[in-house]
Amino acid sequence: MQVGFIGLGHMGQHMAHNLSKAGHQVAVYDVRQESIDSLVARTPGLRAGSSVADVATGADFVGTSLPGPAEVEAVVLGPGGLRESMKAGAIYVDHSTNSPTTVRKLAAALAEKGIAMLDAPVSGGERGSQAGSLSVMVGGDQGVWDRAQPELQAVGGKLFYCGPIGTGSVVKLCNNTAALAAQVVVAEVLTLGMKAGVDLKTLTSVIGVSSGRSPTLTNAFPNTTFKRKFEGFGFTAALSAKDVRLAVEMAHDLDLKVGVAEQVAADLKEAVEMGVGGLDFNAVSQVHERRTGTLLQLSEEDIADLQKLFNQ
Ligand code: NAD
Repeated sequence: MQVGFIGLGHMGQHMAHNLSKAGHQVAVYDVRQESIDSLVARTPGLRAGSSVADVATGADFVGTSLPGPAEVEAVVLGPGGLRESMKAGAIYVDHSTNSPTTVRKLAAALAEKGIAMLDAPVSGGERGSQAGSLSVMVGGDQGVWDRAQPELQAVGGKLFYCGPIGTGSVVKLCNNTAALAAQVVVAEVLTLGMKAGVDLKTLTSVIGVSSGRSPTLTNAFPNTTFKRKFEGFGFTAALSAKDVRLAVEMAHDLDLKVGVAEQVAADLKEAVEMGVGGLDFNAVSQVHERRTGTLLQLSEEDIADLQKLFNQ
């Protein structure tokens, strides 16, 4: 199959690599020339594209992994975009975390040209993308889902058909809101407890073996925030802020109040405004530290003690 792939960041570079490894003829494009060059240099058989139209023309599938709705809309509907350059009968698969409303609008615009679309956002981080083990949440016509299996299986290990176009994005936004809310609530209660006079190791030990425990507290925090590790996972606070903002917009479109999501979105926005948007999503903890004048830091020895306790 001939495949075009656009957006070669933390996630997309590995998707394109895995599509090539699966035997497809892949041409890649990104606005950052260095991203194209470094990927092509380490992936035999991959072709460097010169534009969106260059990689989309003649392709059976086009995949994208772009920051969000604005970039996806520009690539699909902009001058020289997918709507103008893909052939009738081809399939466009958007792996970005996107707005269901935008996805439905783009699918309708492409359908006028005989181009089918799936929204297929992913979960599993850069490591999952590299390993080809991502969860992929797919929305679109069932017949298109069947025809797109060669593309989807090369990208992800766990494929889920969610329903009509836009439903992959609905599931993804709900998932990320749950994950990021856990991140925010753990940072909030730990900094609250410290501000109220209890040390961090005591708080974490007790909550981690009591009813407030969660994998975010017992696994994620000891391996990241407590070590002051805010880089390496590859999912930025800025993209996290975008995801929860999209979840809130989805709720408002449905006339629903989502108080938790709104607070999580506000905290992530504050993190971006603080200047930590380019760090991993757990940098949102720094918002809570700043509010309370505390620091969620433990020594290696204390972290080892906690891990021993939680692994018993
Ligand atoms: P990223 O910022 O690392 O990569 C995005 C890439 O798109 C960049 O290389 C950028 O240069 C390119 N780009 C932007 N506008 C473009 C345009 N108009 N034309 C061509 N290329 C363009 O982002 P990422 O972390 O790889 O995430 C990509 C998508 O996947 C996002 O929607 C994100 O929310 C989602 N996602 C990310 C993760 C993660 O762990 N990083 C996990 C699941 C889902």
